[in-house]
Amino acid sequence: MTFILGLTGGIGSGKSAASQWFETQGIQVIDADIVAREIVKKGQPALAKIQKAFGDWVLLENGELNRRALRDYIFKEADARHQLEQITHPAIRTSIIQQLHAATSPYVILVSPLLFETNQHQLTQHTLLIDASEEVQLQRASTRDGQNIEQIRKIIAAQMPRRQKQAQADDRVLNDGHLEQLYAQLKPLHLQYLARSELS
Ligand code: ADP
Repeated sequence: MTFILGLTGGIGSGKSAASQWFETQGIQVIDADIVAREIVKKGQPALAKIQKAFGDWVLLENGELNRRALRDYIFKEADARHQLEQITHPAIRTSIIQQLHAATSPYVILVSPLLFETNQHQLTQHTLLIDASEEVQLQRASTRDGQNIEQIRKIIAAQMPRRQKQAQADDRVLNDGHLEQLYAQLKPLHLQYLARSELS
């Protein structure tokens, strides 16, 4: 079986930057956020289930998911988020497993901001945390997304606390310097993962 690395980190920690570096080394990356968007595309079974559970108002006129309306609804209705996740989480998991199996690189990476929170780490053999201080997260994420600091603070507060992720992850890199410093830390890890993948 292919060696699967789970890569995680809070918003703005540098998960995408790290993933892109691994891709330049020929390692395939499956992004849980992208999968989450794919499984609710027009024509997908999960979207039909959402429509059945909540009503036709969840669809836009062109048949695509009305994300904004659903987000607002979930915010107001306490049980709705749970109901939605019961539909989406299994579909996300199934699609991730299919993509992991289809991967052909020496090892494969599953990147997810909620790797531990959603138990997606159980799909992996080893985990790597991209870590950054909250100040760095706030500064990078606000520059990237144009979101205000308060919105990003709320997202950070909803994610697993940094210390808990540090305790749970097998490997950790601190991404508080230049990108070159990040890559220099990733390189020896990549060599270890390659060696492990040859054994598995
Ligand atoms: P995540 O995927 O964890 O939310 P990103 O990898 O998108 O975070 O990083 C957030 C922003 O900060 C991006 O614009 C990225 O290019 C930038 N960034 C990440 N790491 C560094 C770094 N070491 N130095 C400078 N900018 C960085």
